[in-house]
Amino acid sequence: MISKKHNFGAGPCILPSTVMEQAAQAVLDWNSNGLSILEVSHRSVEFESVITKTQLLVRELLNVPDSYSVLFLQGGASTQFSMVPLNFLKKGRKACYLDTGYFAKKAIKEARLFGDVEIVASSRDKAYCYIPDNYELSHGTAYLHLTSNNTIEGTEMFAFPKVAVPVVCDMSSDIFSREINVRDFDLIYAGAQKNMGPAGLTLVIAKNSFLDSVNCELPSMSDYRIYRDNNSMFNTPPVFSIYVSMLNLIWLKEMGGVKEIEKLNISKARLLYGEIDRNSLFDGLANLAHRSRMNVTFRAKDERTGAAFFELASERGMVGIRGYRTVGGFRVSLYNALPLESVEALVVLMREFEQMVA
Ligand code: PMP
Repeated sequence: MISKKHNFGAGPCILPSTVMEQAAQAVLDWNSNGLSILEVSHRSVEFESVITKTQLLVRELLNVPDSYSVLFLQGGASTQFSMVPLNFLKKGRKACYLDTGYFAKKAIKEARLFGDVEIVASSRDKAYCYIPDNYELSHGTAYLHLTSNNTIEGTEMFAFPKVAVPVVCDMSSDIFSREINVRDFDLIYAGAQKNMGPAGLTLVIAKNSFLDSVNCELPSMSDYRIYRDNNSMFNTPPVFSIYVSMLNLIWLKEMGGVKEIEKLNISKARLLYGEIDRNSLFDGLANLAHRSRMNVTFRAKDERTGAAFFELASERGMVGIRGYRTVGGFRVSLYNALPLESVEALVVLMREFEQMVA
């Protein structure tokens, strides 16, 4: 059994202990065949069945229509910031972005290297504490880019725009945490290292007709069509990350799939936000309507109190709760594998701390 802390880290983050145990075993001896998962060929029949199974699990768990491809890439979500405009921002068109936080801003910066970019709405005026929803798309929009969950600021989009242009969404920090309608999007991307598996893998789900709209030659490793046409095996894929993601998605399926984990995620978030609102020492940072279920941001009303709580939480084995440097305060991440008991332990500690300070 792995000894555990309460891991509230924002990513890479907690994975189920059963997944860790299976992964550890596969590193030593995979399926009792005398080889480690780290030393098998990605062209072996055994690994091909892993990649196929992982793709099928993604399809099943997210209800991905047949008209979409499921691709496995590398380079993290950050590579997608440039790959999306490289593939889809054609001359004479404009890419529209919602500026909802740190990662959206990074995506915008990269896209500007490739063409005309318009920020159609921004919540920068209020330190990104909300998701703007009042904007218009100009004629000739190549795509609209969204970030469904803003990992650093702790806001999440609960309604997606129904627009006449292709929609691209960075779902790095909330994919597999709740039900989505894949048909609302033309391309979804996500770094794996939150709810899918370990770092090193990037998931892309793309509508085939959107991929077919690319009509120029691109460097192979930046061309989505190459991944699709080679079943994500144009070069060596991240074998171990894919394997552990498969284990994790099997775990998710056994938990009842995305529908059931969403209920659990709602309970965890309610419990913590409830305490933040009740506790006289803390303030939540995100607007109520856009509070993320994955990354809960809050701050102590008094800086010294905050430092003392941080120390106490560390003593009690709670890790990963420090807010991102641009935001400060606390950020508590409640990804799929984080048990309700960890949130309960944190809430009990917040109450205890309030009594100590009073
Ligand atoms: N987008 C979002 C929403 C993120 O949370 C992150 C960080 N995990 C990134 C993009 C960047 O991802 P990566 O580190 O995989 O490049």
